[in-house]
Amino acid sequence: MKFMKSLFVPLLINIFIINIFTGCVKKEDMTEEFKRFVKEYEAKAVPLFTEANTAYFNATISGKEEDYKKAADLQVKLSKIYASKVDFAKLKRFKDSNTIQDEQLNRQLIKIYNAYASSQIDEKKLEEMIRLQNETEKKFSTFRAEVNGKKITDNEVENSLKTSTDSKLLEATWSASKEVGGVINDNLIKLVKLRNEAARELGFINYHEMSLKLSEQDPQEIENLLNELDNLTRDSFAKLKNDIDEHLSQKYNLPKDKLMPWHYENRFFQEAPKIYKVNLDSYYKDKDVVALTKNYYSGLGLPIDNMVAKSDLFEKEGKYQHAYCTNINKGKDVRVVCNVKPNYNWMGTMLHEFGHAVYDYNIDSTLPWTLREPAHTFTTEAIAMMFGRMASNGQWFVDVVGITKEEKDKIADESFKSLRLEQLTFSRWVQVVYRFEKGMYENPDQDLNKLWWDLVEKYQMLKRPEGRNKPDYASKIHIALYPAYYHNYLMGELLASQYYAYIVKNVLHSEDLKNQSFVYKPEVGKYLLENIFKPGTKYYWNDMIEKATGEKLTAKYYAKQFVE
Ligand SMILES: [Zn+2]
Repeated sequence: MKFMKSLFVPLLINIFIINIFTGCVKKEDMTEEFKRFVKEYEAKAVPLFTEANTAYFNATISGKEEDYKKAADLQVKLSKIYASKVDFAKLKRFKDSNTIQDEQLNRQLIKIYNAYASSQIDEKKLEEMIRLQNETEKKFSTFRAEVNGKKITDNEVENSLKTSTDSKLLEATWSASKEVGGVINDNLIKLVKLRNEAARELGFINYHEMSLKLSEQDPQEIENLLNELDNLTRDSFAKLKNDIDEHLSQKYNLPKDKLMPWHYENRFFQEAPKIYKVNLDSYYKDKDVVALTKNYYSGLGLPIDNMVAKSDLFEKEGKYQHAYCTNINKGKDVRVVCNVKPNYNWMGTMLHEFGHAVYDYNIDSTLPWTLREPAHTFTTEAIAMMFGRMASNGQWFVDVVGITKEEKDKIADESFKSLRLEQLTFSRWVQVVYRFEKGMYENPDQDLNKLWWDLVEKYQMLKRPEGRNKPDYASKIHIALYPAYYHNYLMGELLASQYYAYIVKNVLHSEDLKNQSFVYKPEVGKYLLENIFKPGTKYYWNDMIEKATGEKLTAKYYAKQFVE
């Protein structure tokens, strides 16, 4: 999922009337003034927002220099709106006055204030940051790993890591894929320092702290949550990691202590190796993944045909190699970018991205523009993840893929174990990314290669290649381009479990937490629509969660599902 920060240039001369006679401003005056402010703000931001999103979408599809330039220019323009010192001073006054009482107006004030606050950066610095980001993004999009003189795509890298049993080739492929880290590392460090300088100018300790606070997250609460999860998952993960090593040791005919990071079937060990016999890819190899996704959402009463038609779902030369969903106009123009292949990974990704899409698409269109977005980036991740998980759910295979009950009995247990393994593997990986980023922003001049591998050893329990001293952290696109964001995926997983448990118990009135596919359950769609999608970001995220599930965000349903 893409995360775009906005910034920018006032197109109108702001007329701001200060009540100089009384020296204090009446509540109604302040409210009226703020309403006027919002109107002017929307007049500037709304059209540019749509234009910038469209240009970005086009650039990621074509991969062309001029398209990326157009997208970057528009983003700079949009950014400048939020960079206005004059407007920010007004917002600060509205906020400090504490007189905006109307709930929706107050909510808009918080959202708009935070958007401006993160952009109160020297204009030159800001432009430099955006250009660096776009340049880095392009380097990622167009980088191809070179193995034995042959350039290969990310899909081919992943495929090779999964299927080859030749340790030499695996090491060469893994190392080649890490070269992108060296390509973008200078840009990354420049970006980190620029971001930090900017954050300090705004009164924050560093960029990491600023990002969390301005996205309505308390750094201490996040830290507590991650520590709690570390404690909850450590022992189970250590056991499973041993199972993984037993399996890989046989696969490669190597002693366990000779297993290296390239043996884990993934560039980052962010996904689990396939240690169980069940091969989910085989169930999708003859399937039309796009059609399955369409039918599934249609059965929930959340049709996606309109969005599929606008999306770009298959591989192309030069095209962005990852997947994302974008709400072009905070309305009904919602698009997804994928590089679909008929396999388990892309089935899960399609369900995931269209989870974002149905959320965006069904937000109440009568809400003010500012509130027409998910309650938080991680609450939309939660929906995307809840649906993404279905791609390995035994019941889903019966209901959607069309396997028999007997076949399901064979695969259900192992596919659940696979999901659990994936979850725990992923949760350990997020520990690495979150703590690395926190450390990097606290001190970008430290030995980051060491920090990275120390964390990888501690949380993922992998062995660092002897003598390796390369910026491997930089080969992960999120580190440079979606900073201080990764923990949201984990919070999304926790919330996905919370939503799922709530739906099973209270919407489907079932005690069976495992065998649920939601296939042809329009009541599930209706629940999501009314309680989660429609409200947009009308409420603070934890209030929305409490209204929808009766509880604030908690890790207990995740633990119940995957640890106990
Ligand atoms: Zn996502």
